[in-house]
Amino acid sequence: MRNLLLIWIVLCSIFGTRAYAISAEDLATRDGEIAFGQAWLKNTRERLYERVDPFCIDLLETWLIRLKNQFDLGSMPITALCLNGINFNAFAAPGGIIGVNRGIYLDLDSESEVMAILAHELAHLSQRHHYRSLRNSERISTGTLATFAGIVAAIATGQGQAAHSLIMGGQAANAASALSYSRDYEREADRIGLAALGRAGYRPESMSAVLKILAEKQSQSSKKLAFLSTHPLGIERQSDLDARLSQVKDFKEGSPVLSDPDFQFFRCLQIEGLEPPINGPSNLSCTSIHSMLRHYRTGNFSKALKLFDGLPTHYKKTFSGFDIEIALTLKTGDFKRTESAISTVALFFPSWLQPDIARVDLAIAQSRPILPRAIRERMIQRPERLDLWRALGRFAQAFKQEHFMFEARGWDALLHGKFEAASTQLKRARASWPSTLDQRPLDLLDQAINQSRAL
Ligand SMILES: [Zn+2]
Repeated sequence: MRNLLLIWIVLCSIFGTRAYAISAEDLATRDGEIAFGQAWLKNTRERLYERVDPFCIDLLETWLIRLKNQFDLGSMPITALCLNGINFNAFAAPGGIIGVNRGIYLDLDSESEVMAILAHELAHLSQRHHYRSLRNSERISTGTLATFAGIVAAIATGQGQAAHSLIMGGQAANAASALSYSRDYEREADRIGLAALGRAGYRPESMSAVLKILAEKQSQSSKKLAFLSTHPLGIERQSDLDARLSQVKDFKEGSPVLSDPDFQFFRCLQIEGLEPPINGPSNLSCTSIHSMLRHYRTGNFSKALKLFDGLPTHYKKTFSGFDIEIALTLKTGDFKRTESAISTVALFFPSWLQPDIARVDLAIAQSRPILPRAIRERMIQRPERLDLWRALGRFAQAFKQEHFMFEARGWDALLHGKFEAASTQLKRARASWPSTLDQRPLDLLDQAINQSRAL
């Protein structure tokens, strides 16, 4: 949310000594922005602590695409990242990359509040805040840059406290004046996001609710840190927004992607193992879901399934419920139930990859060494989805199919910006690839490596 300006400094810190070679011109066109964002993602990926959970990624994509239509973003692709971070944070990076910490679900109560956060992030993209920040960057001194690089590295690795102490360090004054650039952008993102949120059929008040949470979080930290108290962004932004709320007209509430019980189920899954905030939404309803997950994690699959079956129907018959039912029945061997849950999700969300990935895991559970055809098509359409390659890796390992293992590792390396490793894996895949098998997957990886290298 607040670290938008910081993002371009991440770019600087990631690219190390090449930092000063990055200019606003790199982001001047949409295509440049997309290429730049993808290169940034490959370099940063390892430090983002991704949650490679197909259901979470599909859902986040669906939310983002629904909102994206409300912005002037043309054909910009969306890259949805579910992250393990526990802080209340989300970010937008150039070229349609949106990352969301699972920690946000501790405080959020509804899909429309999540949408408020996503609308704010998409507004940063539609208003081209990265480009505009970078264009103003000559106003920031080298010393400030170094401080910022440290702050951002700390934020990206989830060390919030380290980030705060860096802010308090010697460069604090410079850092503060540089941070103030972003305040106008934050307000703009709130305002544009608010309008988009309403048009997408979500209660505009949710934006205000989210800013209230942000303000509370800031006032909590400012008891310890004077710096933050001089920047009551959350409170300022909230009163700004409340004035605008009254002007939102013709709002029609639409139907959410997830029903309310479905969202509550999903929320419980996301906040597993996290400490609930004192004033946050009640986590009471999560108790049985969390003990079910505990049994699952310790290998007591039948016990976990029994707990699942004991949940009220309005929880079980949700998409989050089907996702869990798939995971549980794969382990207990109730494959008819797995099939049925997979088909239901696929029927409602034909674009989702989760059902096809689940079918790979079903083939493994049933000791059927045939890679489902549909997953291969998905790999051609969406090679940037890491979860596909992780599924291929599981399949290769289960059936000792080396060629698939090398292919999966090649893509994994490529998506993490390790071009040499990707090439090595590709060579190994070529050497072990059965001559009777279609060669096109190898060409696809080859092309992708060459394209990424050229950036
Ligand atoms: Zn923001």
